[in-house]
Amino acid sequence: MKQIVLATNNEHKIREISYILRDLPLSILSKKDFSDFPEAEETGQTLEDNAILKAKAIFKVTNVISVADDSGLEVAALEGRPGVNSARYAGPGCSFEDNNRKLLRELEGVPESERDAVFRCVIAVCFAEDDLELVEGRVTGKITTEIRGREGFGYDPVFFLPFYGKTFAELPPEEKNKISHRAIATNRARDLLIKRLNLDFSAG
Ligand code: IMP
Repeated sequence: MKQIVLATNNEHKIREISYILRDLPLSILSKKDFSDFPEAEETGQTLEDNAILKAKAIFKVTNVISVADDSGLEVAALEGRPGVNSARYAGPGCSFEDNNRKLLRELEGVPESERDAVFRCVIAVCFAEDDLELVEGRVTGKITTEIRGREGFGYDPVFFLPFYGKTFAELPPEEKNKISHRAIATNRARDLLIKRLNLDFSAG
């Protein structure tokens, strides 16, 4: 069976991605299957850079098709910030709540019409040293003026989806996981793997 390796240490992501790829004839490997697995380097200037860095680094040591993701929130009124710095927006060691408070403070007085934001997830699939493809998932919404909801993580409580009338943190996790930027990108990575590896999964 063909193999891929997920270039992340995050168990939650491993479960989410494995679930979307579950019916493909692929053996899905991760850190625990290798003795040498480099720490994810996130020194790039863009989500694309980081996904590429991680996928290439893992391919180099494992020689297995590597799948790496990087996500972030881009706010139009802040010229795309926090973007690639989403995890550490309020500074080193900050909490999700610190990040949300900083974001709400920076948008104080900004009217609803100018509070557009997009969650982006970029996935890099490295098939060989000089053969890498990128796919992307996006969800557009608005930044709230206050924290709303208790589900999810990160910026979920300040990311409002007009279509649902709710923030990501007010949606049940199963619902969010079906429509998220990560789910969209992972489904595109799935299509890419089917095409590139000629996967025939009609029998299984
Ligand atoms: P990562 O690249 O997926 O680890 O995401 C980097 C940062 O982006 C996270 O620490 C969060 O702050 C933010 N982020 C990414 N995806 C989500 C999401 O689905 N909800 C809320 N915040 C997210």
